[in-house]
Amino acid sequence: MADLVFREDPYARACRARVVAVTPAGIELDRTVFYPTGGGQPGDTGTLVRADGAVIRIDGAVKGEGADAVVHVCAPGEAAPLPGEEVEARLDWDRRYCHMRFHTALHLLCAVVPAPVTGGQVAHDKARLDFDIEMDRLVKETIEGELNRLVDEAHPVRPRWISDAELDARPELVRTMSVQPPRGQGGVRVLEIEGVDLQPCGGTHVANTREVGRLAVARIRSEGARNRRVVLGFA
Ligand SMILES: [Zn+2]
Repeated sequence: MADLVFREDPYARACRARVVAVTPAGIELDRTVFYPTGGGQPGDTGTLVRADGAVIRIDGAVKGEGADAVVHVCAPGEAAPLPGEEVEARLDWDRRYCHMRFHTALHLLCAVVPAPVTGGQVAHDKARLDFDIEMDRLVKETIEGELNRLVDEAHPVRPRWISDAELDARPELVRTMSVQPPRGQGGVRVLEIEGVDLQPCGGTHVANTREVGRLAVARIRSEGARNRRVVLGFA
């Protein structure tokens, strides 16, 4: 089981680690700053730096077989390290920081639009949520105004753990129709934006809504009978 540094410290850009496995799928480390693809957030890219300074380019990160396993996917043609080797795992920080800002922005969007969420995706240059809602209830100017008010109000953002029982007692915490948080592990990780939003989430976020920066609604469009897609960009 790997130590997932990003879970407690999403601002960590690098960490020392030991290679525990090398497979055709990629490289597993005993600890990592790389977030693996999941929950609508892309896996991180970056490098592994070997003791002699040689750099192994990492094109992505995905979940492995074990509970907290992360597979670091090598760029084509890169030489793989050996099990037991010490490396430094370094993120493409600018890309990841955009993911953190946009991921936090989607929590704000979720709080602003009072409807069930049917899907979502973060990228480095945009993010979207899909809602089960009537089109005429989504007004671009209103959504932008509310989002930027929450940004300007500088609400603290923090992850914490709640028990399965507490989650079961508050079903309104789960806004996504398709994704139920994993249970039976004694607790569920939730993301709290003080006074704004509280819901299960395993992604990476900024520490204060002010860090999200000003947002713009890039477009609102219909994606099927019940789906309305709201796409955000940085203003
Ligand atoms: Zn989140």
